[in-house]
Amino acid sequence: MHFSIEELYASQTAKAKGIDNKPDFPSLINLVYLCAYVLEPLRVAMNEPIKIGSGYRCPKLNAAVGGVSNSQHMKGQAVDLCIDGDLKKGKKWFAYIRDHLPFDQLIWEHNPKTGSYWVHVSFVYPDFGKNRRNVIDLLEKK
Ligand SMILES: [Zn+2]
Repeated sequence: MHFSIEELYASQTAKAKGIDNKPDFPSLINLVYLCAYVLEPLRVAMNEPIKIGSGYRCPKLNAAVGGVSNSQHMKGQAVDLCIDGDLKKGKKWFAYIRDHLPFDQLIWEHNPKTGSYWVHVSFVYPDFGKNRRNVIDLLEKK
């Protein structure tokens, strides 16, 4: 396993604002499944480091970063993959997830204000709900 649980909830914003962003137990379980079914298989297939930009967010942190009110980040079911401006690499990860891995929602996201792009992916453990395989090729963050 190439990921640590800390990577899946670490947050600069939480640190700066003094928000305790430790996941509750159900969210922790979801993060482990997301890691086992999506992140680790992606990491192994790509054979390169996969940096998590944002993983679990407690409601307070989610509000602080402007996340949508029903965000799967708050359940530990979603992560944003940091692509460090390397669009080619990001598109490759996006395509690999879309074509080879289970997921609920896969979004190529862009923040026009900062110019940054990232890959949002969510996964629901099948016993807990349905994976819709919803792909959004471009979502502009407001
Ligand atoms: Zn996200």
